[in-house]
Amino acid sequence: MRRLLFSLLILGSTAACADAPVRVFVGVPPLQGFVEAIGGDRVQVRSLVQAGQDPHAFEPTPGQIAALGSADLYLGVGIPFEAAQLPRIRAANPRLRVLDARDGLDLRVIEAHTHPEREEGEGHPSAGGRPHRGTGEERELDPHVWTSPPLAKQIAGSIRDALSDLDPDHTDTYETNYRLFATDLDLLDREIRTLLMPLTNRRFLVYHPAWGYFADTYGLVQIPIERAGKEPGPRSLAAVIDAARREGVRVIFVQPQSSRRLADRVADAIGARVVVIDPLSPDYRAALRQAAREIATAAQQ
Ligand code: ZN
Repeated sequence: MRRLLFSLLILGSTAACADAPVRVFVGVPPLQGFVEAIGGDRVQVRSLVQAGQDPHAFEPTPGQIAALGSADLYLGVGIPFEAAQLPRIRAANPRLRVLDARDGLDLRVIEAHTHPEREEGEGHPSAGGRPHRGTGEERELDPHVWTSPPLAKQIAGSIRDALSDLDPDHTDTYETNYRLFATDLDLLDREIRTLLMPLTNRRFLVYHPAWGYFADTYGLVQIPIERAGKEPGPRSLAAVIDAARREGVRVIFVQPQSSRRLADRVADAIGARVVVIDPLSPDYRAALRQAAREIATAAQQ
């Protein structure tokens, strides 16, 4: 009898959870804002990579792995953790839905992807910003999809659909929130377009090439200092400095997650300004506005 009562209590508490928020994990902080915008108070969202951490070298804490074990949705974007550990976490929690923010998007090839072992031998001079279109494994697709507002809008649509599937009672809420968020993104897109339209100098340097979709969307060219995720050797660095000088580049973006030593050296060589800007900022709109303003300001100097 006592056991029956206990079971009923457990059943009761499970039923009371029917209206519990959807538990969501995202790979990187900007996506947290996207899910919160669509999900409102129906969701509880956490980002695996925290502000200031480097997603490329990210390892989750045991606490995060445990929390993922009872989450409803993981929104990924191709950080190395996903291929390495997500299958095991999913096997332990089959309820976990996995959505990739890149699904359905038109992905670009990332700049300056060369194999590091060939790097110094060939002095690969593709610093003009043209993606290096090699064959087979040389083509690495750029994972930084969220830096373009039109793509962010598509990602928001995927989030709406996933939340509606998981929590069909609140489909209307998700649709309403999606429309508001999409309108905000349209406004942001128009604002940035207006700011950047008149520029003739459309090139900027970046330490880590995280701004490719932003650049493509607004007709800009990012020139990365980093090579295939590594510090450039002296030849690559010299090629970047030459290209930047030739193109009259005035601004260099560095992320707070990476060292600015080499960026400072390039800046000294070409007379450009180093700007610390975080493509992984949880404040998505502020980061994109800052990027646009810095490029516009630099171009007018
Ligand atoms: Zn990156």
